[in-house]
Amino acid sequence: MPKVEIHLSVTVALDWLDVNRAIALFQEMQAQVGCALATSYLEAIQDATLDEVLGPKWEDVPQSEAPWTCPQCESTAGFKRRGSRRRKLRKSSLGPIPFELRQVTCRRCHSTFAPFAGWLGLEPYQVSSSEFQAKVVETACQVSYGRSVAMVDDLARVQVSATAAHRWVQERGKSVKLDAGRADGRPLLLDATRVHAGTNPRGCNLNLGISLAGRRWVGGRAQMEIHPVCLGVDETWSETGEALAACSPGRVVYDGDPDVVQWIEKTFREVPQQRCSWHLVHELGRHLWEDGLKQAQARTWVNQVRQILYQPEYSLSQRRAALHALIQQVRDRGFTHAVHYLEGAESHLFAYREQPDGMFFDQQRQEPLAISSTSPVERQMREINRRTDVGARWQPAGVTNLLRLDLIRRFDMQQWDLLWDLPRSGHDESLTANLQVSVSVRPSPNVNTS
Ligand SMILES: [Zn+2]
Repeated sequence: MPKVEIHLSVTVALDWLDVNRAIALFQEMQAQVGCALATSYLEAIQDATLDEVLGPKWEDVPQSEAPWTCPQCESTAGFKRRGSRRRKLRKSSLGPIPFELRQVTCRRCHSTFAPFAGWLGLEPYQVSSSEFQAKVVETACQVSYGRSVAMVDDLARVQVSATAAHRWVQERGKSVKLDAGRADGRPLLLDATRVHAGTNPRGCNLNLGISLAGRRWVGGRAQMEIHPVCLGVDETWSETGEALAACSPGRVVYDGDPDVVQWIEKTFREVPQQRCSWHLVHELGRHLWEDGLKQAQARTWVNQVRQILYQPEYSLSQRRAALHALIQQVRDRGFTHAVHYLEGAESHLFAYREQPDGMFFDQQRQEPLAISSTSPVERQMREINRRTDVGARWQPAGVTNLLRLDLIRRFDMQQWDLLWDLPRSGHDESLTANLQVSVSVRPSPNVNTS
C-alpha cells in the first residue's frame, strides 16, 4: 500500500535547558508541528491522486478516467494540472491549517476547478473543521457560550467567538433526531420544568421524555441506560409527544403535573401508569396546606402515606387497603384538596408491584419490581436547569437545539459522531501513524571548526 512519508526536521540551539524549560520549548514546537504535518499531508494526498490519474508531472501519458467529474460539462476524462489556490482552515483542534488546494482544467470546456475540496469534507467557504465545532459545542452544552469559548481558547489555544459557537449549535441542533421508537416496550418517564425562554416573563415549559433500556452495575453503583425520546420548549405535551403517541411504552411514569396527566389519560389508555411515589409524598403537604393545615399537622398525614408506600413488611394488598382507608379519613376531615390529590393518584401508585418488569428487585420479599419514581428524568432536568439558568432569556428554538445536542452527546454518541462526521476512536484502522526519531548534533562538539 502506498504511504505518505513526511520528513520533519527539528533544529534547536544546543543550550543547556533544565527539564521545565525543555518542556516549554517542545510544547511550543508541538503546537506548530500538528498543523505543519496536516498541511503536508493534505497536499501530498492530492498530488498522489493527480499523479495516479493524470500521470507524473511533465509527462504526456494517456490518462485513465478520473474519479471526479467536471462541474461544467460533466466530463470524466481529459484534465490537466492548473496550479493551486490557497485554502485555510482557520479553526481546527490543531490550530489554523493553511494548505494548497490543487486545481485542474478540463480540456473539453476549459473550466478550472479544485476536484478535492469535497473529498476532504470541505464545504465552500468552510473555515472551521467540524471536529473543532463539535469540541466547542460540547463545551457550550455544559457552560455558557461566553465561558465555553474562553475555555477553548485556554485549552486548545484557538480563538472563536461566542456568536460562532451559537451559530454552530443552531445549525447542527436542527438535525438532531430524538428517536421516539426507543420508548416501545420500555418504561417511559416524563417530566416538565420551567426555562427562561419565550415572551412570558415567568418563562415557559420544557417537556422531556426519556426511556429506560435497563440498569447496569458500574463500579458497585446501578446506572440507568437512558434514551431521550422527546424534548419540547414552549409546547403542549401533545406537541412534544406527537411521535410518542404512535408508540407502545411498557409503562408511563410521571409526577402529578395536571398537563401531563391529561395527555397520558388521552394518549396511553392501555399502558400501565405509575405515579411517582416520591412526588406523592412530597407534594401532599402542599395540598394539605391548601386545606388549612399547619406544617406540623400536615406532617403526621404525610408520614402515614410514607409508611404505607415504603413500610417493607406490607404486602401489596395491605398497602392498597391502608391507602384507601387513609383517603377515607382525610375525606372525613373535609380536606378536599388532599382527597382530590390522593384519589387522582391512588390507582396508579402500585404498577411497579402489580406489573413488575424486573428492572428493580425487592430483596426483602424476593419480588421483581419496576421503577416507581421519576428520579432518572429529574436528574436530567437538574442538568438542564444548571445549563439554562444563566441569567439570559432564551429563544425556545435556540434552547431546544442546544439541549437536543446535549442529550445526544451524552446518550447517543453514534448520532453525535455522525452529526459532526467524527472518526470513531478505536474503530478506524487508518488512524495510525509511525513516528521515527533520530537525533544528531551538528557540528559534533568535539570537532574544532575554527
Ligand atoms: Zn469540462
